[in-house]
Amino acid sequence: MEEIYTFAGNPLDRVSQRRQDAGWIASLLDDPETRLLPLRELKPLVRDSSAAELDWRPVAPWREAIDAGAALILLGIGDGRAHFALDASAAPALAGTEAETVDVRALAASIPGGEAAVLAEARSLLDWHARHGFCAQCGTASVIDSAGWGRRCPTSTSRRGCSSAARRFRPRSTASTRGSSTRPRAARTTRRPPR
Ligand SMILES: [Zn+2]
Repeated sequence: MEEIYTFAGNPLDRVSQRRQDAGWIASLLDDPETRLLPLRELKPLVRDSSAAELDWRPVAPWREAIDAGAALILLGIGDGRAHFALDASAAPALAGTEAETVDVRALAASIPGGEAAVLAEARSLLDWHARHGFCAQCGTASVIDSAGWGRRCPTSTSRRGCSSAARRFRPRSTASTRGSSTRPRAARTTRRPPR
């Protein structure tokens, strides 16, 4: 499946028009108000696996993983703060956090619908990145692009027949009307990814 799911009820402004603004993204990561949701193997890292809430963190403790190239997604802006998701699968565990014991379905069912939609979107995007690490055109390892909403082939247009038109890859986005569903249903509406 090439699709990700976008859920009704997601309270974040996805700011799709600013995803190419690297300077702005960098400033968000430097902002102490910015929040980050680390996930390991698509499970959110939590300090209390019985708590019915997402465990948003400041960026600073995850800076090393970000700088090492872990998949980072700008989920959007909410409550005046930027919210990111990070694939922390390869990052060393921070003291007091765990992911292994999280029951994602139970968590998604117990948190507010808006948070469940954010979690579902983060998982869909990180899963897409994990399965699309190479250019579909030439097979070169691709790199993350558009603040986590796409990937691109780093080769020049002249190499290996990889044309510029084919160098960017984005997940297809499928709208779901089931905002707090614990399992995405096949949606009726397919549209172009938000940009
Ligand atoms: Zn390519």
